[in-house]
Amino acid sequence: MRGHVKYFVTTLLAIVVVSAPVLGLEPPEETQSNAVPCVVVIDPGHGGEDTGAVGPTGVAEKDITLGVAKKLSAGLREKANCSVILTREDDVFIPLEERTAMANRSSADIFLSIHVNAAHSKSVDGIETFFLSFDSTDEDARRLAAFENSFSASGHVRSDVGGDLLEILLDMANTESHHESAALAEAVQASLLKGVKREDRGVKQAPFTVLVGATMPAVLVEVGFISNPREERRLSSDKGQLKVADSITDGVIGFKKITGRGKDYIGFNRPDKKE
Ligand SMILES: [Zn+2]
Repeated sequence: MRGHVKYFVTTLLAIVVVSAPVLGLEPPEETQSNAVPCVVVIDPGHGGEDTGAVGPTGVAEKDITLGVAKKLSAGLREKANCSVILTREDDVFIPLEERTAMANRSSADIFLSIHVNAAHSKSVDGIETFFLSFDSTDEDARRLAAFENSFSASGHVRSDVGGDLLEILLDMANTESHHESAALAEAVQASLLKGVKREDRGVKQAPFTVLVGATMPAVLVEVGFISNPREERRLSSDKGQLKVADSITDGVIGFKKITGRGKDYIGFNRPDKKE
């Protein structure tokens, strides 16, 4: 008889555990959205012969972007339940178009291109996050895109937007991933401002080659100004890079939350999920 009671109690416990979600005992929404796996392609800007911008003491943008990208990769794996692919893991030159192609080939859910800004004035400071658009938000955004685009497949300067690029830009306007890119840019910018506490230069739009043709939410983050001596120092330190990486990780977690609310968001952009 006692054996029967024990069996009954064990069975009852099993039923309670198994039916916990039905009884409304699900984990909080945040935990749910984070439980949804995702694939993120991180693109450390520049590399190899393309140094990107160079700071007052000679620190190169390409080294900061790689340092941040590696720390971000670890953060996304550990905290955001994402698998991560880097467009480069070493100091090598990868054409801009190839970086986007890598993200498309790996069916990534999110594409993050990491960059560091530069200005003529050493006092300029702040963070800005971009998503793709044919129309630049302002003159500064247009100039920045022209600089970042200056290393195309052949390494030649590309100063205009026309031909194939224009066609693709017009094509992508109003697509779902374009709206998602705006949401991703907002989430990343907000968490960076919260974590790094620098001037808010805003979420902006500009025709960056590296974002053209990406079939998933894609943004380009300018994590600070290498031309500002204090910022050059901060961004070259492990501590400074980790802070930036952790903040972007929080932004990705926030994006998963607002976009999917823990449901079936990730992967919506894949062909087999399209309606
Ligand atoms: Zn750059």
